Amino acid sequence: MMNLVIFGAPGCGKGTQSERLIKRFGLHHISTGELLRDHISRGTELGKIADSYISKGHLIPDDLMVRVLAHELEEKKDSASNGVIFDGFPRTIPQAIALENLLKEHQAEIHTVVGLEVDEDELVKRMIQRGKESGRADDNIDTIKERLNVYHQRTAPLRDYYKKQGKYLAVNGNGTVDEISEYIESALAPQN
Ligand code: AMP
Repeated sequence: MMNLVIFGAPGCGKGTQSERLIKRFGLHHISTGELLRDHISRGTELGKIADSYISKGHLIPDDLMVRVLAHELEEKKDSASNGVIFDGFPRTIPQAIALENLLKEHQAEIHTVVGLEVDEDELVKRMIQRGKESGRADDNIDTIKERLNVYHQRTAPLRDYYKKQGKYLAVNGNGTVDEISEYIESALAPQN
């Protein structure tokens, strides 16, 4: 089993690199952002609540987010895979603690946190481009700025949290998609 977290600021390429890792290592993908956007497009109760936070660039409250994740893990637990890649979760220290406890219930743990480190001006450029191409509602300049603020305040401390546990793999995320995925795959391969 190889459970991974793909970690980094908004726009760092988490989704793109997750797709590569899923194929390479046979992992399930849990993207909390995609999950919430799916609820929004279906107009569910959760979608309505999520939209009110996402559109402002804020985080969904931890207790709600942890419940959503626990439900998703429960649904996936019987299907065969070599592990899970958590994309966009955890985003706060309480979420990281909750994830640890949830995995413990299944005698599992996080092996590696893949940290995509990208310069801030590059992040903004990528998100503006993505907004034009995909029409993602939160990829507009005001929301992008707020998401980066929230990232620095609430999510970035997870870097040290996982470094202290010896689980953080720092990855230069400024290169091409291929360069970055080759680097990550060679760093992870010996553990597989
Ligand atoms: P993402 O697709 O990962 O960039 O997520 C898009 C948005 O969904 C974020 O800006 C948050 O508003 C919300 N979101 C996704 N994952 C989480 C999480 N783990 N905790 C709180 N909010 C989240």
